[in-house]
Amino acid sequence: MCRIGIGHDTHRLRRGKQLVLGGVEIPDAPAGTVAHSDGDVLLHALVDALLGAAGGGDIGDLFPNTDPRWKNASSDIFLAEALRRVRRKGFRVANADCIVFLERPALGSRKRDIAARVAKLLGVAPDAVGVKAKSGEGIGAIGRAAAVAAQAVVLLARG
Ligand code: MG
Repeated sequence: MCRIGIGHDTHRLRRGKQLVLGGVEIPDAPAGTVAHSDGDVLLHALVDALLGAAGGGDIGDLFPNTDPRWKNASSDIFLAEALRRVRRKGFRVANADCIVFLERPALGSRKRDIAARVAKLLGVAPDAVGVKAKSGEGIGAIGRAAAVAAQAVVLLARG
């Protein structure tokens, strides 16, 4: 039996903040995320996809942004907890596919670095994670570089 889950996240961008995507810092980003935690939209979307597939709430239920424990927290912690819940239910991650919506910088070859890092965090082979990047074509919150967003879908398999 398989389970599928979907996740989405958006954070505002501000100059002088750090941008982390899939656990990979993007040092040449002109702005980073405004967030309670490290604001990693890709990992947050993945956490929601994992929790959705496992039938267990969402990231806001588990890690409220009003809780001081999660202030500036690495999103690796959130992903690890979501994975624990997946495994406790007898599932493993089969694959994940993700899209990052970011105006600049173009992620280019770093999509591979991000995919490799996410694969490591999920405990799957590198080719079981897809990372795509889309610009906002200069329109909307993404296009104005006012926000960064991510979508993720994960497939879980028994065992
Ligand atoms: Mg978030």
